[in-house]
Amino acid sequence: MSVQARHRAYRFRCYPTSEQAEQLARTFGCARLVYNKALDYRHKAYFRRRESVTYNQTSKMLTVWKRRKDLAFLNEVSSVPLQQALRHLQKGYSTFFKGQTDYPRFKKKRVLSGSAEYTRSAFTWSRGQLTLAKQTEPLKIRWSRRLPVDAVPSTVTVSRDAAGRWFVSLLIEEDIPTLPEREGAVGIDAGITSLLTLSTGEKITNPRHERADRDRIRKRQKDLSRKRKGSANYRKAQIKLARAHARVADRRADHLHKLTTRLVRENQTIAVENLNVRGMLAGHMLARAIADASWSSFRSILEYKADWYGRDLIVVDRFLPTSKTCSACGTLIESMPLTQRTFICPDTECGHTEDRDVNAAKNILAAGLVESRNACGDGVRHDPS
Ligand SMILES: [Zn+2]
Repeated sequence: MSVQARHRAYRFRCYPTSEQAEQLARTFGCARLVYNKALDYRHKAYFRRRESVTYNQTSKMLTVWKRRKDLAFLNEVSSVPLQQALRHLQKGYSTFFKGQTDYPRFKKKRVLSGSAEYTRSAFTWSRGQLTLAKQTEPLKIRWSRRLPVDAVPSTVTVSRDAAGRWFVSLLIEEDIPTLPEREGAVGIDAGITSLLTLSTGEKITNPRHERADRDRIRKRQKDLSRKRKGSANYRKAQIKLARAHARVADRRADHLHKLTTRLVRENQTIAVENLNVRGMLAGHMLARAIADASWSSFRSILEYKADWYGRDLIVVDRFLPTSKTCSACGTLIESMPLTQRTFICPDTECGHTEDRDVNAAKNILAAGLVESRNACGDGVRHDPS
């Protein structure tokens, strides 16, 4: 068993005083403004003059902006979150150029929500008390879980969601022991009717109460649509809707954390499909939108946990026809409409019949094992019997 130093984020609810809240809201606003101005600048430079602008250049721009009379208010907040906003933009560009994300977008002005990131020089940490730059009192935090002994956060992010709740996330480096190697291997298919299907035949369903929560969201959406835009009642309805969304998201996150922990404990090799989540989001159905959001967070949680605990996560090409292939004999069929819930192999000698998603999950596992063999060059390490 080896031990690796990893960064782990610990997130807590926090309760700023009204003075702190006001100061934080101003910081969020300035960070958003700086981000948007830099995006506008970089975009225009590229399209007008074919110039690419670096992070360092935008950082120099920030110094210039702070000297402008109309932007003097930027000096009232800590400069670190503003710099971090420029770093995020830089990251947005680099992931875009690697083909991993969409082109960076302007951050919209929201009623309540926003965030600000503080690095080591912009907060003090002493005996578990966190005081942010430009603030005099420590932030009141609800410590819902224990931090590792002697932990000192390297980065602190304060955020507020659309429901008005405040959070603080502490990035902490700690030693995480990898788990002992296991024999298990599993393929996972992302579905719509059930959340996930495993190659073992197990179906992971949505968290309990989700249907009821979804009905609540729909009702709140309706309520909101009846209110006059900009009125006080509209605001209230907006917050109520955001709370309903937050509830679904919280339950989902909890569900996904338990599930991913179980999967990495039980398996050495985990194969998933590289679904294009953004493409999937095209449909407007609420259930579907939530399922898509879950899939992408499932993937990212699984990725870091596999990394922490020394597991192999294999991503299978999404263009492989995993739904249209017989998992028993490998016969490829012409079409497999979504409404068809059972795979029936047309090969008369085979005749394999199986639940559509289980069949797909088995193929994902098989493809994953091929890819892992190609990557290692020394044969499959763990053969699933
Ligand atoms: Zn077959």
